[in-house]
Amino acid sequence: MLGKTHLVSSEAISLTAVNYYSQTNHVTVPLVITTIIFASVGFGSLLPDVDSRNSELNKTTIFGLFYKHFFINVKHRGFTHTLWNVFLFMYISLLLESNHFYIAVCIFGISIGILIHIIEDGFSANKVDIWYPFVLKNTNKHRHFFHYRVGGFMEKSMYVLFWVLLVTALKNAYLIYLN
Ligand SMILES: [Zn+2]
Repeated sequence: MLGKTHLVSSEAISLTAVNYYSQTNHVTVPLVITTIIFASVGFGSLLPDVDSRNSELNKTTIFGLFYKHFFINVKHRGFTHTLWNVFLFMYISLLLESNHFYIAVCIFGISIGILIHIIEDGFSANKVDIWYPFVLKNTNKHRHFFHYRVGGFMEKSMYVLFWVLLVTALKNAYLIYLN
């Protein structure tokens, strides 16, 4: 999946979830928390592709240097695309929760962005080994009933749909914080 689709979809999903939480629990999530989640989930959604030379993150930011030094010889869709990576960020977030709450929220947001990224990549025509380096035997043959080609028609359609969801979520957030 392309970086922009990861970004738009994870922002749409996370903001919708935060809005839903505010609306169903009748306690508005503080704006500062929502803002941190919005920013960190977006960042997290791009982070796994730091192992790919062609990712947006590596082409346009300082992460390109990082890639050259740490990831150039690493398999694309390796460790950064595993649940280990998600658990690592969640664990760090837990450790920081009591003393550095906002940083913990930020790292938790990153873990959610990574998780959404991995799930989305899992539906692409190329597989993701979520327990890498432990590879389950049949994953090569595994095909979901729904899958898409990176940059193909299906992905382009999802990109548009997620934009619609994101605009709706932004509008709802605006209404929530205005009241
Ligand atoms: Zn990826």
